[in-house]
Amino acid sequence: MHILLVEDDDEIARRIIAGLTLAGFAVERADNGADGYAMGASDDFDAAILDLGLPEMEGLDVLRRWRREGRALPVLILTARGTWSEKVDGLNAGADDYISKPFHIPEIVARLKALIRRTSGHASALLTHGRVVLDTAAGRVTLDGEPVELTARELRMLNYFMHRIGRIIPQADLVEHLYTIDESRESNTIEVYVSRLRRKLGAEVITTVRGLGYRMD
Ligand code: CA
Repeated sequence: MHILLVEDDDEIARRIIAGLTLAGFAVERADNGADGYAMGASDDFDAAILDLGLPEMEGLDVLRRWRREGRALPVLILTARGTWSEKVDGLNAGADDYISKPFHIPEIVARLKALIRRTSGHASALLTHGRVVLDTAAGRVTLDGEPVELTARELRMLNYFMHRIGRIIPQADLVEHLYTIDESRESNTIEVYVSRLRRKLGAEVITTVRGLGYRMD
């Protein structure tokens, strides 16, 4: 497993590299955001560990640029303890998971392994979440093994959620994703689609995060 570490603090980087190497990972390090961005954009890594406070380019900007360019690389962000807003920003910018500082190496190893496992699972056509199974290739959905009829737009919304399990999705992102330019983009219709998915797949399937958006977890 080939890991990109973007961390400017030498001591933290040294600890992570030592721990991950011991766990069998091959680690390459960038000590600033610009180099980290370039390495992640050009090389094939299995995952990246990304600090948020970085010289030359902030971690969040690195992440946003990767995602904007379609880089699906799984990303674990490092955040300072207690800053929940950093976590929310990071997850919204496309991070897959986060670790708060101070951290323990075994936690990083465990989360990286889970992340890589989860991400490689996405390569198959079947996405499973609890009682719901989505066959992305065939566009079919089952609940407890029974077929569920979804409209094209409901399917599209479900697919979007199921690729972002545990992440808060702002309403604006859903509007952006569901409507093409020439359709009317009314954010209140998002609530209509969310409630239809809840009716068809169970009320617990999507959580409303007041003031922030929606989450499937
Ligand atoms: Ca830093």
